[in-house]
Amino acid sequence: MATLDHTGTLGVVREKVEAGERLDLEDGLAILESDDLLALGELADHARRRRGGTDDVYFVQNTYLNQTNVCRVKCKFCAFAATRKQEHAYTITAEELVEDAVAHHAATGFTEIHMVNGENPHVDFDFYRDTIASLHAALPDVHLKCYTASEIHHMTTLSGLTHEQVLRELKDAGLGSLPGGGAEIFADRVRRLVAPGKEHPDVWFHVHDTAHRLGIPTHCTMLYGHVETYEERVDHILRLREQQDRTGGFLAFIPLAFHPENTVFERRGFRHTTGADDLKMLAFSRLMLDNVPNVKAYWIMMGMPMAAVALHFGANDVQGTVMREEIFKAAGGRTGTEQKVEELVRFVTAAGRVPVQRDTLYNELRRWP
Ligand code: SF4
Repeated sequence: MATLDHTGTLGVVREKVEAGERLDLEDGLAILESDDLLALGELADHARRRRGGTDDVYFVQNTYLNQTNVCRVKCKFCAFAATRKQEHAYTITAEELVEDAVAHHAATGFTEIHMVNGENPHVDFDFYRDTIASLHAALPDVHLKCYTASEIHHMTTLSGLTHEQVLRELKDAGLGSLPGGGAEIFADRVRRLVAPGKEHPDVWFHVHDTAHRLGIPTHCTMLYGHVETYEERVDHILRLREQQDRTGGFLAFIPLAFHPENTVFERRGFRHTTGADDLKMLAFSRLMLDNVPNVKAYWIMMGMPMAAVALHFGANDVQGTVMREEIFKAAGGRTGTEQKVEELVRFVTAAGRVPVQRDTLYNELRRWP
């Protein structure tokens, strides 16, 4: 990872934004070290509009599914995973999952299923492929955004197949896109501290690179607010930007604030990120990631009132109705797990923006005046 003496200022960043120039490591550090929050918001919003952004703010009607929380990895920031013998461990069959999803769809009409799981060593690749095929057969119009790059890699170790073979089989079964989880922070130092059992970042990139080349769009994330430095945040975002230059398949970036509750970090005295840090991260993401079209203010993490404010800090998407989210809830998330469409519309409108319901691929489904 490159490091350098920090001499940049927000003035230089502003000049580069005005000139449409790409920001570098030094600019990223200047943004993260600035306390001028309102200036950062204004700059990020300006950069977003310079690149063609409008007042439209997107959301999707979606549901979250987790088929198994059994996981072999034991990331230190994770409050979701369980070993098979723990009382709260579960693994749901494809039939049970589909039955539940169909009933839920009939009641709500979601257009997207977002599903991630633990890396369960007690299932085989058919477990995943059959689940996708069954979901797709039962809900053919619902977009299946399923499995992090880590899970895709886990499937290769279960099956002996390559990333490409696994992705091809899942795509043929009905997979539509990949979520962005598993990225955490790419720097080796951080990974060794927070997720020593997780695969090397090169694997994360190889899965996304392969997916993009197969025509499977993906998302990208950063889990911030634990042991990482500002340099490591900038390094992470620059690696994502380079990947996007190569393949262009990232639909959106989602900065994820670390929730320490029910993890070893809570016992070590770690606290939630502050609202100021969350807003700064959104502005930083929008300014640095000049080639990823959408940046999400993830309301399930920051709450809808803060997500609405974040629309003035570079975000143009508030994710979705997110029914039954389990992962942030396990880590102490207090924001509830469902946001009605009317509420999303109310918050976005009150922020002076235009609510647009989208599908997963950012096709417009409905807009509010
Ligand atoms: S973050 Fe994912 S891979 Fe890590 S322990 Fe939790 S479920 Fe397992």
